[in-house]
Amino acid sequence: MNHFEYGPEGLACEGAPLARIAAEVGTPVYVYSRATLARHFTVFRDALVAAGIVDPLVAYAVKANSNVAVLKVLGDLGAGADTVSEGEVRRALAAGIPAERIVFSGVGKTRREIEFALRAGVAEINVESEPELDLIARVAGALGLRAKVAFRVNPDVAAGGHAKIATGKSENKFGVSFAEAARLYANASNNANLEPVGVACHIGSQITDLAPMRAAFAKMRGLVEQLLAEGLSVERLDLGGGLGVPYFNNPEPPSPADFAAMVGEVTKGLPVKLAFEPGRVIAANAGVLVSEVIHVHERPEGRKFLVLDAAMNDLVRPAMYDAFHDIRPVIPRTGEAVYDVVGPVCETGDTFTRDRVLPPFAAGDLVAFMSAGAYGAAMASEYNTRPLVPEVLVDGDRYAVIRQRPTYDEILARDVIPEWI
Ligand SMILES: *Cc1c(COP(=O)(O)O)cnc(C)c1O
Repeated sequence: MNHFEYGPEGLACEGAPLARIAAEVGTPVYVYSRATLARHFTVFRDALVAAGIVDPLVAYAVKANSNVAVLKVLGDLGAGADTVSEGEVRRALAAGIPAERIVFSGVGKTRREIEFALRAGVAEINVESEPELDLIARVAGALGLRAKVAFRVNPDVAAGGHAKIATGKSENKFGVSFAEAARLYANASNNANLEPVGVACHIGSQITDLAPMRAAFAKMRGLVEQLLAEGLSVERLDLGGGLGVPYFNNPEPPSPADFAAMVGEVTKGLPVKLAFEPGRVIAANAGVLVSEVIHVHERPEGRKFLVLDAAMNDLVRPAMYDAFHDIRPVIPRTGEAVYDVVGPVCETGDTFTRDRVLPPFAAGDLVAFMSAGAYGAAMASEYNTRPLVPEVLVDGDRYAVIRQRPTYDEILARDVIPEWI
């Protein structure tokens, strides 16, 4: 469920008409619903608790939507943060999320990033390889600290979905094998600068079938049992994120309740705390991208292009993952037309969709890309020197700009012409 409905002034986010936000902030603009973010987080956590999972750590995956105001909404409800860079750790801390609820993941953490995370006192660093474990031990040693580490295991399970967001096969770059995990865990237990606290997995994103998750989690359970049987201390099993969301072109994904019930079954009786790293399922349907039609361009042979002021630099998912976004008129229109929906960027890839049946549009109309709250603004760039798209958070009938659109002066001021040119 989300809070984007048609009202007297057209499509609204909670009590704020999108047309009004577009007029005041300009387009393109991302608009998020605080109530939807809160609802998605609460539904996810409550489903876990209802399935018998005691005190789960729900560490929201910051990369899905990393705006500090979004993080604060979730953090205030008890969310932790799954982070993949020093920048994301800093964002989570700036949002008031306590370090003991921050997980630091990522395949290539640098020495500096590890040092920062250790000084901040994060809950665990999820280790992705043996050389990384060695680096963490050295950095912790230099700081005179004991690093809490968890081992990210690659469970060698195909999660389905787009190849660019599958992470759980052994050919992917993520994590260590089960055999390596057991060996490294035992080694780390004997290292004065390391404190192994658990194991973790994350098999991919936009997963719409529980079977591969169940298979991966069952393997993870086996690993935890093996480590415990070897007399090692295991406090936490981190089951990652990846639960899919409806993008309205595919079958309904499993609900958080179905997911939680499956987790409850697979982990029943296991004497460790569970952690989760949901991103998309919290943020995707809590946000839209609002854009204005610049031109309707009809080719002589009949193809109609809807040229928008939003482009692949603002929302890259269609270009990068062939992703589908439902596109709705902000002011309802009757009738039908078939469009290729494109942005102004000089790339053929700057095509949001082809041959989409939509209401007929004219220049100046507003459209909303639905389900754009995750991996939307977070992946935006300034390609073609298009100012970074702003973000707005709605709460009832009030709203605030939570990231300003930069001015051209600000953009140009970042570049420096050396005196020797
Ligand atoms: C991307 C990522 C997530 C979040 O994935 P979603 O599909 O957005 O839920 C969680 N954990 C890790 C390690 C990730 O890389």
